[in-house]
Amino acid sequence: MIPAIRGTHDILPGQVEKWQHVERLARALCERYGYVEIRTPVIEREELFAKGTGESTDIVQKEMYAFTDKGGDRVTLRPEATPSMVRAYVEHSLEQSMAAAKLYALGPMFRYERPQKGRYRQFHQFDVEVFGLNDPAVDAEVIDLAWSLVAGLQIPQAELVMNSVGCATCRPAFQAALLAALGQDLAKLCQDCQRRASINPLRIYDCKVPADQPIIDRLPHSVDYLCGDCATHFSTVQGHLTTWEIPWRISHRLVRGLDYYTRTTFEVLGQTLGAQNALLGGGRYDGLVKTLGGPDRTGIGFAAGLERLVLALPESLVVPVLAPAFVVAIGEDGRAEGLRLLRELRRAGVPAQMEFEARGLRAQMKRADRAAARATLLVGGDELARGEVTLRDMRTGDQRGVPRADVVRETAALVDARSIS
Ligand code: AMP
Repeated sequence: MIPAIRGTHDILPGQVEKWQHVERLARALCERYGYVEIRTPVIEREELFAKGTGESTDIVQKEMYAFTDKGGDRVTLRPEATPSMVRAYVEHSLEQSMAAAKLYALGPMFRYERPQKGRYRQFHQFDVEVFGLNDPAVDAEVIDLAWSLVAGLQIPQAELVMNSVGCATCRPAFQAALLAALGQDLAKLCQDCQRRASINPLRIYDCKVPADQPIIDRLPHSVDYLCGDCATHFSTVQGHLTTWEIPWRISHRLVRGLDYYTRTTFEVLGQTLGAQNALLGGGRYDGLVKTLGGPDRTGIGFAAGLERLVLALPESLVVPVLAPAFVVAIGEDGRAEGLRLLRELRRAGVPAQMEFEARGLRAQMKRADRAAARATLLVGGDELARGEVTLRDMRTGDQRGVPRADVVRETAALVDARSIS
């Protein structure tokens, strides 16, 4: 046997229904909020992420599946979606064709991390990005969409945390205050923090090393250094969330691991996930489109990890499955009629199955049971002689003869399937 690569997973029947449930809600919300799907390649030029995600990030420093391809180009499996979305927006001049570029994507990402619960090497993200809209109401809308996903999935005890990391105008003063407050303590921080201090000091707040925490907890808060515009923007975002009755808490340490964030940052945390507790995270990135060669357009978005959403679903969740009909046929003539009926049901939009291998009545009924059929349709010699089919409601055990001409319609009503024909 050749096993799957460490940190990658098969999503098997039995699990995949939960994924479909999450994806269905994500797509439905996007439709409701006016976001359209975009699909970009899973492979990109390495420099896109060096420039987009940022040289100082763990993703670019340590985690990329980057290699030289047969043509000698440096390429990588994408570790996140935002730079690809920006690239596509710029490459296709979407700012000209879309009045408001409100986009979403679903797909696999790749990071060479140490696998553990909630952290994998191939994982999947639902990604939402908005380009060219600056109003704080857009920040609030994006956060509302993220929150509605978590609420709609009935994930228990989820918590929305927010912060503002300022902009190019106010960031330098905050960084200076941060480094001044660190002073002699900088030498006591871990190696990663020392490196961050020289490339992107804000990322010191991301540090998880226990010994560093008392020092980091004493550092200043970005919200106290916001310029007038950033302060107004942030308080307006909060005002909208209050109006919409979305609860949040400010987290002064929420700077997020990537280099490009400006102003609003946010995460939704789950309580049942252990160490990897961020269900989703995002924020504003007003300089990124320009950095990647595009027009001066702002951006805001978030990425939710599908694995973590699926892990956090409530135990009690009953994923709605389409209740199928099961055709049980006795004898050669019954089988011929059963096959005809099977096709008619399917054409009428009723999910239907029939047992092709086992021929005995008991064996077929057993299969119907195992398939959790809502209805069985029995066709044998007696039924054929009467021009009927025996329709059995598998929940109540009631059964009755139904005229052949009516059976598809009656089965559809019984299994509650919507006709697609
Ligand atoms: P990030 O792109 O790092 O901001 O992550 C956004 C979301 O993607 C996180 O909140 C997680 O839900 C998910 N995520 C990030 N990295 C991983 C990973 N290695 N395995 C599983 N999910 C991940």
